[in-house]
Amino acid sequence: MNKYYDLRIDGYERVVKCINENVGFVSYIAVHNINLGPSLGGCRLLEYPSIDYALADVLSLSRAMTFKNCFAELPYGGGKSVIMGKKENKEEILKYMSDFVNYLKGDYIIAEDSNISCDDLDIVRKNSEFVAEKIAGDPSPVTAKGVYLGIKESWDFLNKKQYYKNLEDAKIIVYGVGAVGRILVDLLLKSVKKVHIYDINEENMAKVINKHPNAYIERDHFKMLYNFDIFCPCALGGTITKDFAQKTEAKLIAGCANNQLSSPDVSKILLKRGILYAPDYVINAGGVIQLSGVTNGIYDESKVNNKLKLIPKKLKKIFKISMKKKLPTNEVADIMVMKKLYMIK
Ligand code: NAD
Repeated sequence: MNKYYDLRIDGYERVVKCINENVGFVSYIAVHNINLGPSLGGCRLLEYPSIDYALADVLSLSRAMTFKNCFAELPYGGGKSVIMGKKENKEEILKYMSDFVNYLKGDYIIAEDSNISCDDLDIVRKNSEFVAEKIAGDPSPVTAKGVYLGIKESWDFLNKKQYYKNLEDAKIIVYGVGAVGRILVDLLLKSVKKVHIYDINEENMAKVINKHPNAYIERDHFKMLYNFDIFCPCALGGTITKDFAQKTEAKLIAGCANNQLSSPDVSKILLKRGILYAPDYVINAGGVIQLSGVTNGIYDESKVNNKLKLIPKKLKKIFKISMKKKLPTNEVADIMVMKKLYMIK
């Protein structure tokens, strides 16, 4: 049996904690904002180090979903769910998760994220209508494509301001080669001579290295700071710390991870040091953009490809305003979203 506890957290529509002692899991659903429609966001199943950590994750991720869905011009608000549990119990956990999703009566629509795939969500679909459309499929390839388009646009923008080098010759590291990161490597290697990678999971690195002779593993964290023009955070969040921002020689930070900055003020250091940062929820919006390709149960890939162009277009706009107003790029993006959410002219 699930037990539910509604928490009151400022700035959030609803945050609910669910405990299930039978299967042994704790889960949170955070609904950040529903001004534009029901909240939509993925569900992460992780062995979080603590309940506080899981709560902090769901709060920051659900907020990011509000911004991402708004930027992607979708009729959804921002929400997210996290489950503290073991992958081995996934099937059973997801059965109970469907009750949890139903408890929110449609304010939250569940989608896939770390350790929860589109197919896994079939278990939730059996008992709940509040699940993202399956026909759109795995969002990772579309997310990777959006990130790739974003990197190209960002690098072009930098080169127009001050010539560095062609993307082909840029030194790039993809930090995290899971579902999205490894497809990003595939795409990058169509334009770039070589790509470096790093991941804590040896098997995931091996998958990339076995496929691409021009992919290299970089294990030296010191070199990660100094040897690369483009750093692509594609693991989990918080990779860009103050220390990293102060030391890195990268000219561009652009990747798929959610919540890349360990704290929002890290972006001030990046701005001061002239490092271009592609705000995470803008560049990684491909996955949610994919959902806009489904109409009456039919998936239209050309519609999605067309909408993906929003990513480079909006990045360019953000970069221009950031340069003009000397504001960090993430702050510019946040202001743009706030204006839309609250209809501010
Ligand atoms: P994933 O779980 O498939 O891959 C994450 C990879 O990061 C794994 O290979 C993991 O071993 C590695 N990793 C974890 N911690 C690390 C660390 N400290 N150092 C180095 N590597 C580490 O996840 P994914 O679907 O590829 O998503 C990656 C990120 O992008 C996540 O933050 C996710 O929320 C975000 N994101 C994903 C999508 C999508 O479509 N899948 C969409 C938007 C955002």
